[in-house]
Amino acid sequence: MPSEVLLPQIVEKIKGPIALAFSYQAEDVAALHLLLQCGIADLEVFTLDTLKLFPEIFSYHKELEDFFRITIKKYAPDPEEVKDLEAKLGDEWGMRASLENRHLCCQVRKVTPLGKILAGKSAWVTGLRASQSVTRQDLKVLEYDEKFGLIKINPLFDWDEEDLSAYIKEHRLPLNPLYAKGFTSIGCAPCTRAVQPGEDIRAGRWWWENPEHKECGLHLRKN
Ligand code: SF4
Repeated sequence: MPSEVLLPQIVEKIKGPIALAFSYQAEDVAALHLLLQCGIADLEVFTLDTLKLFPEIFSYHKELEDFFRITIKKYAPDPEEVKDLEAKLGDEWGMRASLENRHLCCQVRKVTPLGKILAGKSAWVTGLRASQSVTRQDLKVLEYDEKFGLIKINPLFDWDEEDLSAYIKEHRLPLNPLYAKGFTSIGCAPCTRAVQPGEDIRAGRWWWENPEHKECGLHLRKN
């Protein structure tokens, strides 16, 4: 069943507030566009400002708000936790020194703030696709998120690259300017690089790690 049909049927059954986690990727733009067609009364669209984002994100954020005529709320990590984190990591590239450091950084800048945002929500919507990586192969449209204790909706779960590209084109949705610079997946500046033609779309994320480690802790799954 197409996501345009499936998503309204799912959200109609959910009682209480729904949130969309926006991370400036093409998938998020498509998921947001789909979700806004559903006419949800209690919807919060938010982004995690890790304080490590690319400078291009700030003008793109404004462009998106103007395009969709919505507010995308920004949440930052706790300043005291960031201070402690930076002391532990040693320097601005300290998150690359070990998997433990990287997970700690993602915990403070992403996972802990996300837990606070999702508390009290009934469901959250993501732009995840199963074909994005080995860590997402068993993705379903509807899941129970045990980590955060709420329903998780992945309307793009079975989309491939062509589906996504066709949807973006059809609805003339604004894309992150980083895609034009060779990025195929968007994350924090210290942990994301542009990729070469033929490389995997997630090859530029935490490129120094093995593929099975490439999650930030927001979407950890049982395999
Ligand atoms: S992606 Fe990198 S900079 Fe961003 S929170 Fe994770 S480790 Fe820190």
